[in-house]
Amino acid sequence: MLHFLRASTFALASLACVTIAPSFAPISESTALAVAPAPFPTWINGANCPTEPAFQIHQFDADTYILRQSMCTDFEGPFLYLFFGTSKVLLLDTGAVATPPVPVYATVKRVIDGWLVAHGQASIDLVVAHTHSHGDHVAGDAQFIGKPNTTVVGTSVAAVQTFFGFTNWPTQAVTYDLGNRVLDVLAIPGHHPAHLAFYDRNTRILQTGDTLYPGRLYISDFPAYVASIQRLVDFTALNPVNYVLGNHIEMQNVAGQQFPLGSKFHPNEHVLQLRRKQLLELLNGVLGMQAAPHQEVHDDFIIYPI
Ligand SMILES: [Zn+2]
Ligand SMILES: [Zn+2]
Repeated sequence: MLHFLRASTFALASLACVTIAPSFAPISESTALAVAPAPFPTWINGANCPTEPAFQIHQFDADTYILRQSMCTDFEGPFLYLFFGTSKVLLLDTGAVATPPVPVYATVKRVIDGWLVAHGQASIDLVVAHTHSHGDHVAGDAQFIGKPNTTVVGTSVAAVQTFFGFTNWPTQAVTYDLGNRVLDVLAIPGHHPAHLAFYDRNTRILQTGDTLYPGRLYISDFPAYVASIQRLVDFTALNPVNYVLGNHIEMQNVAGQQFPLGSKFHPNEHVLQLRRKQLLELLNGVLGMQAAPHQEVHDDFIIYPI
């Protein structure tokens, strides 16, 4: 726990000289949680590489953590998520390629050890799964293989289907229980064939990986992507969402402005958190270009067929 606190303090201290607009968007009254989560932090943004940690650890609430990998280690600067239940903790993604490898296992273990102390629990099973298997989200997998109480889920469509129990891919939504914490898991191919979305009923976070985030939404299978976004819209019509959280930030905090591909410093980044509003805007955007998919710049994201 002590080590964990030191790491958090270090991450925050390194931001002292960075000026970025406040990144907290209040929860609307209609969807407010009984216990409000901590505000989102100012994320590390590559402004001070000599002091920036490899990962910034943000405690969203008592059982939810968001980690950001430093852009000093890899320009992708991906976000990783930890959802704790009483019997299992789910890690979504293991980070981007970096040389030497970033200490993702050590960082995650520090968070888990701190959580166990805080909850008076001796152990918990770690399940390492992925939003999808592009290199910037699986690079740290090897660090987890063979570790105690740890399962690393395969990344192929078949492996994902088997592990989570999909029998009707991709239209079926399945549930995954971490122990007093149920996640709904949706198949959302389009950016990648095995892409998943995770909806946490406790926090009402919808984790959308590389399918929707404030940045360039690369689409490799356009019809599949449109169908996936439609399923997310339909799902969230029935399941209230507080935050739509993805894997990267590539937009600036000026409407429609992006950072150049490969940028390792993001002054004045867009906030991480999106809302269902942006999901609806994305659906309208892709439905409107089905006959001729093309790049289209929106305030908070860019539709980017490839
Ligand atoms: Zn990707
Ligand atoms: Zn990515």
